[in-house]
Amino acid sequence: MRNEKRKDEVRTRARTASHMFTRCRVIGCSRPARAGTADGLDTRLCRSHADHYARHGSPYRRSFTAPEINPHREQAEAWLAANASDRWVLNAVERVNTLYATAGQHVEAFRLRGLSPELRAKAAWARLRKAEIDPFRVVAAWLAVEMAIAADPQAERKPEFKRVQAAKLIHRMASGTHKRWGEGRTAKELHVYPRPRGRVLRHMGQALEEACELLVHHRTLPLLGSKE
Ligand SMILES: [Zn+2]
Repeated sequence: MRNEKRKDEVRTRARTASHMFTRCRVIGCSRPARAGTADGLDTRLCRSHADHYARHGSPYRRSFTAPEINPHREQAEAWLAANASDRWVLNAVERVNTLYATAGQHVEAFRLRGLSPELRAKAAWARLRKAEIDPFRVVAAWLAVEMAIAADPQAERKPEFKRVQAAKLIHRMASGTHKRWGEGRTAKELHVYPRPRGRVLRHMGQALEEACELLVHHRTLPLLGSKE
């Protein structure tokens, strides 16, 4: 009997203890953690920080703004153009081409609903292929994020932040389905922009990171410091 009672006490305490830890893990945030987020990405954050984390790749660091990232993109594109025949540049470009080639059929934006994050990420690559986005620009987006982070002493350096930031840039390069019916003033238009979701961005970002991995490893990029 006593034994049973003790077991109950232990169980109760274990429940209480776990309850005490369900505070958001962001320092200074006292909101309770969510049991689960829509994206299922992190159960240790409150709703607001979980949403931020899903969208930006960090619970507290916001995404780079266009004025923050664009100079790095320009610099990366210029560097790639100047090194277009470099074997590691070609390697990264070839890998992006492989992502295009293996992305499957193009999916209209309004048919994406219900697809898994993996398939949505594939659809995004197929969209870039269909829009004929130059793979050099896709590689440049990754390099720009690496450069922006290297240039910012306070930057979030976790791989996930890089992946989400780069994925957001390339997602935007071809992110809509546009339809138009009729002519002139009575024409009807439909613009559907699939909002990039947390897991889709992570899948895209990771694929891009892998595509650029050897290039980043072997070559000294502007602002990234010496590698060899
Ligand atoms: Zn929080």
